[in-house]
Amino acid sequence: MTPDLPINLYPKPSPNLIQADHLQHTLNELHARYRSLNQGKPASYIPELAKANPDWFGICIMGVDGQRFEVGDTEQLFTIQSISKVFVHGLALEDHGRERVLDRVGVEPTGDAFNAIVLDERSKRPYNPMVNAGAIATTSLIKGKGATDRLNRMLAMFERYIGHESYIDMPTFTSERSTGHRNRAMAHLMLNFGMIDEHIDEALDLYFQQCSLMVDCRDLAMMAATLANRGKNPLTGIQAVPAEYVRDMLSVMYTCGMYNFAGEWAYLVGLPAKSGVCGGIIVVVPNRMGIAVFSPPLDERGNSVRGVKVCEDLSQQFGLHLFDCTGSEKIT
Ligand code: GLN
Repeated sequence: MTPDLPINLYPKPSPNLIQADHLQHTLNELHARYRSLNQGKPASYIPELAKANPDWFGICIMGVDGQRFEVGDTEQLFTIQSISKVFVHGLALEDHGRERVLDRVGVEPTGDAFNAIVLDERSKRPYNPMVNAGAIATTSLIKGKGATDRLNRMLAMFERYIGHESYIDMPTFTSERSTGHRNRAMAHLMLNFGMIDEHIDEALDLYFQQCSLMVDCRDLAMMAATLANRGKNPLTGIQAVPAEYVRDMLSVMYTCGMYNFAGEWAYLVGLPAKSGVCGGIIVVVPNRMGIAVFSPPLDERGNSVRGVKVCEDLSQQFGLHLFDCTGSEKIT
């Protein structure tokens, strides 16, 4: 029987807006509330990261309409670390397509630490591109005629998201390269199972280089906003990644982006996100905005303590959880 009334399968998003001054006021409040939270410690297993000032604390929101809201140390430079994994995953998808990337790296959350030396028993693939093993495999897929070309393609990719050129911090790169024994061990394990080819050192160097890209909180917010804006940088209008792959990137961020806190994060915050041991977190609110928080002290899972708090509060306060249907306050 055909129903009497048409069913609207594609309802328009709610037109309610967050007022700009309300958003700025909220950011100021959150910054003041969590500035004195003195839990966690900056990462020290990469010697260069231990030099971070635990008081650095910045929050930046970039709307898909190009409006920016910020508070604190949003121009302090730091290395992007694991947040790079999201964007290199996008480049691998662009280079090889969904099927081939899936052959080499899964999309299952691990429930283990980001640096766990573990592969899927059955398929021998690393679990997902957001943990180190999976990220090294993803990086090894980046196309190019030799190491320099691969690095240049990667830098050009980051530039499309950020909107300006960025560079690799050499002290961090060499620090990671000389101490990254776990990452090296993972690469060898994957070579053993044929998940990466024999150019291990080249793949590892490129992985350490991507982790050592210098960004600030504004850059990260812009990168997140680009993903929120279907892969198009809101200010330059440049398509950073084909729109068809944004879905893949966000899905993996949603389920795996916060390491072994990913389930709790999905439950509490309900948005695709990625953290790094630099103390940065990016959050994507699809079709609305990108959020970035930077504060180096980390909890035991490697996520920024203040960053997690700020994102929980923002999601709660503005009803940003993807599955929130109480309609508290919405942004178009
Ligand atoms: N470069 C770091 C590593 O490989 C990245 C880890 C992270 O940010 N979680 O150990």
